[in-house]
Amino acid sequence: MEEKTCLNCGEPVGPGRRDKKYCSEPCKTEYNNRQKEQKTPVAETRVPPFIGEINQILTANWKVLKDCLGTKDTCRMRVRDLSGRGFNFKYFTSERLNEYNDDVYYFCYDMGYKFVTINDEQKVVIVQNEQMVRLTGPAFQAAEADRLG
Ligand SMILES: [Zn+2]
Repeated sequence: MEEKTCLNCGEPVGPGRRDKKYCSEPCKTEYNNRQKEQKTPVAETRVPPFIGEINQILTANWKVLKDCLGTKDTCRMRVRDLSGRGFNFKYFTSERLNEYNDDVYYFCYDMGYKFVTINDEQKVVIVQNEQMVRLTGPAFQAAEADRLG
């Protein structure tokens, strides 16, 4: 008959009851403690409330941009109109630089915008995705000017 070994240390359990699982009491205690540790879930890092609040702002911003764009790939909006819709310019997820003209685009996840001043009025040009930043070189901007008026 094959010799039973201790669940904790792997040594033979020696003589005793047939259902003996450990070579000694300390081994039994150690094994049980380890099982308990493994079952205790690792404490999750608590996310402070302000992170949730910022996520809500970003989500609201995203919806405003999406509403403005509709099915278009780009559009122009007055800054105050965006603010009027509850857009919060303080928060964005990333920045992209247009290497052609050094325009800085502020992204809210997939959509972005850049500030432009037209006839002394602060506006934003919203773009549908990052690819459009690279597309907005001189040729594109001429076409954009035609399209947006
Ligand atoms: Zn043991």
